[in-house]
Amino acid sequence: MSQSLEDFQQWFEQRNPNAPEFQQAVMEVARCIWPELEAHPRYHSFRVLERLTEPDRTISFRVCWEDDNGEVRVNRGYRVQLSNALGPYKGGLRFHPSVNESVLKFLAFEQTFKNALTGLPMGSGKGGADFDPHGKSDREIMRFCQAYMLELHRHLGADVDIPAGDINVGPKEIGYLKGAFQRIKNNTGSVLTGKPPSSGGSELRLEATGYGLVLFVVNMLERIDDHLQDKKVVISGAGNVALHAADKVRTLGGKVVALSDSHGTLTCEAGFTADDLDAIHELKSGRHSLESFMNNDQAKWHKNEQPWSVPCDIALPCATQNELDESSANKLLDNGCWLVAEGANMPCTDKAQRLFQDKGILYAPGKASNAGGVAISGLEITQNRMGMSYQRDHLEQRLEEIMRRIHQQCVEFGQEHEHIDYVKGANIAGFKRVAETLVSFGIT
Ligand code: GLU
Repeated sequence: MSQSLEDFQQWFEQRNPNAPEFQQAVMEVARCIWPELEAHPRYHSFRVLERLTEPDRTISFRVCWEDDNGEVRVNRGYRVQLSNALGPYKGGLRFHPSVNESVLKFLAFEQTFKNALTGLPMGSGKGGADFDPHGKSDREIMRFCQAYMLELHRHLGADVDIPAGDINVGPKEIGYLKGAFQRIKNNTGSVLTGKPPSSGGSELRLEATGYGLVLFVVNMLERIDDHLQDKKVVISGAGNVALHAADKVRTLGGKVVALSDSHGTLTCEAGFTADDLDAIHELKSGRHSLESFMNNDQAKWHKNEQPWSVPCDIALPCATQNELDESSANKLLDNGCWLVAEGANMPCTDKAQRLFQDKGILYAPGKASNAGGVAISGLEITQNRMGMSYQRDHLEQRLEEIMRRIHQQCVEFGQEHEHIDYVKGANIAGFKRVAETLVSFGIT
């Protein structure tokens, strides 16, 4: 068993070969919390870190469904139930061809700290399938969701595991999954969040990750007596997180100068207007590329380009893991960027992250800055349990409070002279809450 950080790394990597994303996420946390482990021999002797890197269970299963041509298709589905120390397993479902065990384990591991930071009673998990919904009809997506639930249902429960959406899984898919669950189990319990409002979904859940991200940025700026007004903001992605972040930036007076999708980047030096952003939401809900945006003739389309060369103050990577590498990080710095906050989970590679930290710019990891989504999921569970629903303004206020509290925890545990190391702060604060609980449970 491990004694030093190097021993731990060797132990961990031997157990998890061919899992680059999981290794990246775990070693980032291990480096940050190591002094904390050394200072608390009980954490070491209870093997808290080793326990957190070995999920309670990893379920993988066949998903067999029929496409519109009557062809039988086979995909692989998963659910990683990482830790229920703080509450039911909680974390999204992702449908994407890049989904595999390494990706889901890293996401579930990140979720552990994120959920702990919210202060709500939620354990951690992640799931999904290597299914690509692009180019599939609505009926095919429905049949896939039903087939996926045919296996997943036996692992869910309102006090057991409560998934939500993630990439390519929104209220529509959650609706199909919930419908299938109810038919199979004859049970209407709250086993999914991010539901459509008509079936117990919470107000603000859809917007929460993007809004929460921008609220976190506002906290980062306020700490240095600054504000969002007139700041140039570059956002990658054009999904749920990116577009709601863009709306919030604009409402708070910032200028969204770039958005991107898998085909390229759309820029607008003067900043996209409210009207532009509405048109972009519209395009994206019809699954069209940003390339077909025609609302504003000042906007420019940059085919196959990422948005990182666009001059800005703030960058919000909101697409996917490792989308921003070291050379992109250099471009951002060269173009004046001085604040990066992650809307996606681990969008910066290890080298990009280190570069931001070495250069001393403000840098917030996703497990802190994108926790708003799962926080409102936590409140969706509360509402379902109580059989009532909160008003939107109450939820907006709760989201603001939760993001402020997460920011405070990062500041408390990440203080380094005048500077805040948000990565260290988020990792230590999240870890302490889970570690205390695991130790209190004894050896389980
Ligand atoms: N997929 C989201 C995340 O990465 C939300 C998870 C949830 O609401 O359970 O945090």
